[in-house]
Amino acid sequence: MYGFNGKILRVDLSKHEYTVVEPVADFYRKYLGGRNFGLYFLLKETEPGFEPLGPDNILVFSTGPATGAPLAGFSRHSVVAKSPLTGGFGEAEAGGFFAPELRFAGFDAIVIKGTSPNPVYLWIQDGKTEIRDASNIWGLKTKETQEAIREEAGDPLVRIALIGPAGENQVKYACIINELHYVNGRSGLGAVMGSKKLKAIAVRGHGKPQYKSPQKIRGFAKWFSENWKKNSSTVFRSKYGTAGSVLPLNQDGLLPTRNFIKGTFEYAEQISGEKIHDTILVNTHGCYACPIRCKLSVKAENPYETDPIYGGPEYETIGAFGSLCEVDNINAISYANQQCNAYGLDTISTGCCIAFAMECIEENILTTKETNGLNIRFGNADAMVKLVEMIAYRKGIGDLLAEGVRKAAEKIGKNAEQFAIHVKGKELPMHEPRGKPGVGVEYALSASGADHMQAAHDPAFKTSVEKVNPLGILEPVDRLSLGDEKVRLVKYLERWWLLLDILDVCKFTILPHGCGVFTINQIPEIINAATGWDTSLQELLLAADRSINMARLFNQREGLTEKEDTLPARFFKPLQTGPRKGSKIKENQLKKAVKKYYQISGWTPQGKPEKTTLHKLYLDEFIET
Ligand code: SF4
Repeated sequence: MYGFNGKILRVDLSKHEYTVVEPVADFYRKYLGGRNFGLYFLLKETEPGFEPLGPDNILVFSTGPATGAPLAGFSRHSVVAKSPLTGGFGEAEAGGFFAPELRFAGFDAIVIKGTSPNPVYLWIQDGKTEIRDASNIWGLKTKETQEAIREEAGDPLVRIALIGPAGENQVKYACIINELHYVNGRSGLGAVMGSKKLKAIAVRGHGKPQYKSPQKIRGFAKWFSENWKKNSSTVFRSKYGTAGSVLPLNQDGLLPTRNFIKGTFEYAEQISGEKIHDTILVNTHGCYACPIRCKLSVKAENPYETDPIYGGPEYETIGAFGSLCEVDNINAISYANQQCNAYGLDTISTGCCIAFAMECIEENILTTKETNGLNIRFGNADAMVKLVEMIAYRKGIGDLLAEGVRKAAEKIGKNAEQFAIHVKGKELPMHEPRGKPGVGVEYALSASGADHMQAAHDPAFKTSVEKVNPLGILEPVDRLSLGDEKVRLVKYLERWWLLLDILDVCKFTILPHGCGVFTINQIPEIINAATGWDTSLQELLLAADRSINMARLFNQREGLTEKEDTLPARFFKPLQTGPRKGSKIKENQLKKAVKKYYQISGWTPQGKPEKTTLHKLYLDEFIET
């Protein structure tokens, strides 16, 4: 087999046993990798209604057909499980170095079930596996955990996906992190790892995946290195990271502010990528084999001193801890980012939960009696950073917020749900649907809850669609449209964006993302060079269709209904400030768009995949009889 290793590691933590399975070649070609591997095992090997934080949940780490090739962006891995935050399909992708190392160590994926009676970590080296005792590192923060495992191995190049105290404490949005700043952030998969008493997966490999045409792979790498600097957006991202998006979004009136009440933040310059660049930036770095190096490392000073080893805040983190909480101090935001990386928390959900608490305090739904005396007002940076720690350790009100905004609002009562900004229980990313209704449609429909990396970001398709013609997209669509033509655009782009998750490649390196370099048609060529297949864009996109339908089937099996395919009521009300003041999503239009999406997806009016749709996608084994 070329590209893949042809081996999946299966671990049963309850029995402390593991086996290596070698799926048939057709399995790889049909499902491709990434989230599809996870979905396959969830659907095949779990019973309806199982507990996400119990032994029956299956946690899958997986890679794509060309992961580990020396190409920019081919360095990601997916993690999939039933999400403790949503109760449905949970997924998160991360870059860094873990995925290539797993491939060098001989595996394409790891499938973990059961719960260990004692804390353990997995040690994987060149095809060999051990389940090692982790009692001495249980309770440690991420940096100390990484150091201890590397010291025990006597090897600083061991790559480790691990959890911090938040995962151990089963905070519902705990993350998994590698290299202390590449994060499988969303869906609470760190809590699933914690529930299994699995502190870390450490991998080291000295093998190299076999590619059908290494010469062609080298040719693509050369082409990328000669061309990426011709793209001004990519050069901008290389300098400012995703933090460079703060000012453009603020100018467009779409920087989520004050728990999504407003779309502009008057102190946006203070929290911008430019501000970071001019004050606390000490270095940039990047994932395996990527010359763009879009990740920042910052060193903020007292009282919010940070260690550059934890990286620096991404745009999403700045939005969540900055404008959303109306905190204008970039040092405090950087410190909150560091705490999340040290404790193992998703920065988006953590910031959203804090902004939710702030609004509850402002509206007198919570008082200082319930917040342990903490004055959690918008703009209070000290309270914000204190809350991050309280959430990680479930102290005081942190225990309530550790459940996510949906459950926290249910427990608080008093109409608090109006301030809980989530879809299917997952807190919203920092992209305002009232100026990007296509993003709103995708938020409403994404199987894993609101996800900005599966969505058509509307402004990019308002005047020209030349770059996405290969996907079959023929006409520009008005950015504020929520009509049938927008739903069609969302559908076509969703397939592409999900395919990139299935292949486990970085969307920042590939068109149509604003700073993409590889073209759409280069991707099947790369997959063919790696695997020796004769695949096509059409065949690859069918794997994305499988993904969408399998995720939908899983969610419906677990009790999610079409009622959850919607947005928080806040977005049906007008934005209060900025150039988009007065913009809103019309609820009836969103409902119509969701129905249209069902129809063009081959689903029933209740959003259930039709049998003919599943048959067309060769998913007959998942058709209910
Ligand atoms: S563009 Fe950034 S996130 Fe993507 S692979 Fe390169 S360094 Fe990693």
